[in-house]
Amino acid sequence: MDTYDVVVVGGGIAGLSAALYAARQRLKTLVIARDIGGQLNMTTHIENYPAIPKISGPELARRIEQQARGFGAEIIFDEVNAVEKWGDVFLLKTVGGDEYRSIAVVLAFGKTPKELGVAGESKFKNRGVSYCAICDAPFFKGQDVALVSWGDLAREPAVILSSVVNKFYWIYPGERPIHDEEFLQQIEKLGKSIYLPNSEVVEIRGDVKVKSIVVRDRKSGEVREIPASAVFVEIGYVTKSDFVRHLVDLNERGEIIADWEGRTKTPGVFAAGDIVAYPYKQAVISAAMGVAAALSATAYVSKVKGKPVRTLVDWR
Ligand SMILES: Cc1cc2nc3c(=O)[nH]c(=O)nc-3n(C[C@H](O)[C@H](O)[C@H](O)COP(=O)(O)OP(=O)(O)OC[C@H]3O[C@@H](n4cnc5c(N)ncnc54)[C@H](O)[C@@H]3O)c2cc1C
Repeated sequence: MDTYDVVVVGGGIAGLSAALYAARQRLKTLVIARDIGGQLNMTTHIENYPAIPKISGPELARRIEQQARGFGAEIIFDEVNAVEKWGDVFLLKTVGGDEYRSIAVVLAFGKTPKELGVAGESKFKNRGVSYCAICDAPFFKGQDVALVSWGDLAREPAVILSSVVNKFYWIYPGERPIHDEEFLQQIEKLGKSIYLPNSEVVEIRGDVKVKSIVVRDRKSGEVREIPASAVFVEIGYVTKSDFVRHLVDLNERGEIIADWEGRTKTPGVFAAGDIVAYPYKQAVISAAMGVAAALSATAYVSKVKGKPVRTLVDWR
């Protein structure tokens, strides 16, 4: 098994920026990520990224990915579920059953979309169950689908589904999906939404792909099956950092405590982006944190290899 200088966990803007910098410093760099873009995939327009007046989130991610690959970073799609310290190196294990060895690790795994936790959800992930309408709605052009989302989180998926699918069943727990009547009138005018108030999905059914959802009325208790070829679930994010709990300190929200250099309590383990206990969750901040973590990782790797360390870092 090859030993990488740096393995970056996460392919959002923090992880990709870290990979770009690490690879450009000529470190043997690997990104392990469930996807490229992370939360950037959820947004059609970013207007506050310095020097870029307007860009879609996926396009911003794609550009940084290309830059990182251009400097030699490798990227594989998988999910890390264990990180262990083995002497001078870290061993990273994945859900896919692979193992990777690295001198330094950059944790940039951000936030993970919240799941419904109902029967069929895991089975049909990527086979009709999606947590990103903006990413996946085009696959269901002209079809009947379902949306589980409410409040501000529901704005973007409602707009996107209205422009792509034949119709969408909008499932939410209250009387109205969003408390903005003007917005709802605009969506209603597009004629694609069928409201299912006071309701919840209790099961997702299908064969190789989603075919229907089972919905329960929370008031009457009535249960009905609705044909749908996809379910879009956009109900927020959670932090899933338990698998690194033995290596880093976490705050009450499960975010990683790291300093300005991206260092955690374990030498060689760095953290960047939305996963860090820092109040401002923004793309440019995640990118900058990724850069800081990569530069610190570079210094750490040099030190472990007995090379001169250029960056002035206090290793405690
Ligand atoms: C709807 C929306 C709109 C936004 N609009 C703006 C905006 O206009 N301007 C702005 O600056 N910011 C905006 N943000 C915030 C910005 O998108 C985030 O701050 C930023 O993308 C976070 O990047 P990240 O790399 O830290 O984490 P994430 O984007 O969350 O990326 C995490 C990455 O880690 C991967 N991952 C997770 N767990 C694992 C694991 N165990 N193993 C491997 N990979 C894993 C994920 O698949 C993903 O690739 C918006 C966010 C959202 C949701």
